[in-house]
Formats: sequence, C-alpha cells, structure tokens
Amino acid sequence: MLIVMEQSATAQQIQSVVRVIEASGWVARPIPGGERVSIGVLNNKGPVDPAAFLGLPGVKDAIPVTRPYKLVSRELKSENTTIRVGPVTIGDGSLTLIAGPCAIESEERALEIARQVADAGAHLFRGGAYKPRTSPYTFQGLGEKGLEILAKVRLETGLPVITEVMDDETFDLVEAYTDIIQIGTRNMQNFSLLRRAGRATKPVMLKRGMSATLDEWLMAAEYILQGGNTQVILCERGVRTFVQHSRNTLDLSALPVVRKESHLPIFVDPSHAAGRRHQVIPLSRAAVAANADGLMVEVHTEPEKALSDGAQSLYPHQFRQLCRQARAISDVLKVVVDTP
Ligand code: PEP
Ligand code: MN
Repeated sequence: MLIVMEQSATAQQIQSVVRVIEASGWVARPIPGGERVSIGVLNNKGPVDPAAFLGLPGVKDAIPVTRPYKLVSRELKSENTTIRVGPVTIGDGSLTLIAGPCAIESEERALEIARQVADAGAHLFRGGAYKPRTSPYTFQGLGEKGLEILAKVRLETGLPVITEVMDDETFDLVEAYTDIIQIGTRNMQNFSLLRRAGRATKPVMLKRGMSATLDEWLMAAEYILQGGNTQVILCERGVRTFVQHSRNTLDLSALPVVRKESHLPIFVDPSHAAGRRHQVIPLSRAAVAANADGLMVEVHTEPEKALSDGAQSLYPHQFRQLCRQARAISDVLKVVVDTP
C-alpha cells in the first residue's frame, strides 16, 4: 500500500499516518517526492484496507502495491532515482561511462589505463581488487593493495572508482575505499551481503545474476533498499543461454521492462556479456539505443597480457571509438525520444 499525502499535508499529518501504520505492526517508509510526500506500508503479510487511511487528514489517496517488490518499484516512487558520485550524476538522462581493467594488476598498469580512459571520456574508473574467479588457481586480485591503488587512481585522475565486494568480511574495507560498491553476478542472491549493502553509505551497483529472472533481480535490489540504502544501480551483464558464440547473451529486453517496473538507474556491461572484444562496441551501441543510463566496459592497454578477461578487454583506442559512438547515439535519443 502507498499512502499519497496532499501537497499541503503538514509534518504532523504525515506523522499521524506513520503512527497509524505502526500501530498495526507494519513499517512506514516516508518517500519524499518532488511535489508531495508518499508513505509506503511495508512488512504487511496480507492486504491493507485503504479505508483505514482515506479519511485521515492530509491523505489524498491510498494505492495498493501489486508488485512483490515495493521500494524499487515505480508504484511506490514514480520519478527516476538519480545518484551523485563525486562530480557525476547517474540516472539524470545523461550517459555515464565506466571503464577500466577487469582486475587491478599493479599501480603502473592501473594508472596507465585510467589516464587513457579518462582522456577518452570515461566518468568513472573500474577495477577489481577482489576477484570472483572460476578457478582457485588463477589470479584472485591484489586485495587491500588493489584498493590502495584505486584510491591513488582517483587522486591522480579525479575519476571516482567502482570495485567489487565479495564477502561480508571485506565489506567495511571496500566501502571505505570505493565510491561505488559493486555486487557481482555470482553474489546477486547472497542475502547477507545484500543486507550489509543495505546499511552501506555508498551507492551499490547490483549486477544481474547470470540466470536470474527480472523479479529475482528486483527482489535482490529490494533487500538493499529495505535495509535503508536507496542508492542502487542495476547492471545487466548477460545471462546464460545455449549460444556458444558469446560468453553470455546480453538481454537488452530487460532494459525497457526494468525501466517500466523500477525507478532505479540501469547500466549495461557489454564486456562480460560478450566475452570477446569484437562484440563489445556493437553491443554498447545497442545498449545506449535501448536507453541504458550507462555502460561499464573493460579496457586494458595490453589485453594479451591481462591477468583476467583479456579476450573481452578493449584497447584504449577502441574505447575512444566506443565513447564517440555511444555519445552520438545518446545525443540523438535526447532529441527524438521522450524518455519515461
Ligand atoms: C566484473 O565486473 O568484474 C565481474 C566479475 O562481473 P560479473 O559479476 O558480471 O561477472
Ligand atoms: Mn572481468
């Protein structure tokens, strides 16, 4: 249930609605909007009777929420969520470009790549310090040393950084260093990690599980919002299918559906979807045309020597092309499409 308050509702009237909700044993979540406050009713096991609220002073409407997810849904918040990260605003209709290596390999390498992607027009730098690898015998990331390098990259280039958190034990450390906390495809339904992310003070990028339905993905995001962190970015990164010509299949049909269902910004990672370099630019163009809020792309100065995901990493000159093409498509969309 969403209680919509009148534009003229006073703070006292809002408080008394909150008290009525709490008296029934439910949780009240006030949601400030551009023009009026709405109050979400959470933790109700069965349906809520709108009549209990419609007569209260300051209440304009009581709307049943039909979706299993509430806080992430447009039913509860119709305006798009925007997220500020340093000088960057995500989700405001502009296109945000994130680029960098799969993993932080050394300070020199990270700085070299960061300077190149910054020069090409990237807004944020990516790089894993803790890597979820299929084999325990492959490079696992530099850990805390990698986080220190990320902080240096931010200092040197001015780019905010994003890196993946893999477990509860390292969460505090990752949160302290990074500007955006990434939760990877393999952890999308790690519920204790999602709960911890709900208490984080930094924005979280939640990648789609490689075999997750949209409902499962949005419910995972709901955990984070329910914990109190409303700064969540979704990222489509491809799902497992039968095809063998790419690592995963980029599910661009998820974009219009998520856009309709949720107010959260949505990004696309064409690199992990493709697994092969030559597919990354075409998939990026398609993602921008499908109205993605941003792209996250792997770039390496010597991909043949990369310690992980070299085959899908773009050379810096290719990332430059990608930026030019992505921006051109985004500019066209601003002119010809009425974005919701
Ligand atoms: C990554 O972005 O570094 C990564 C491991 O991605 P995913 O979780 O989508 O596989
Ligand atoms: Mn990777």
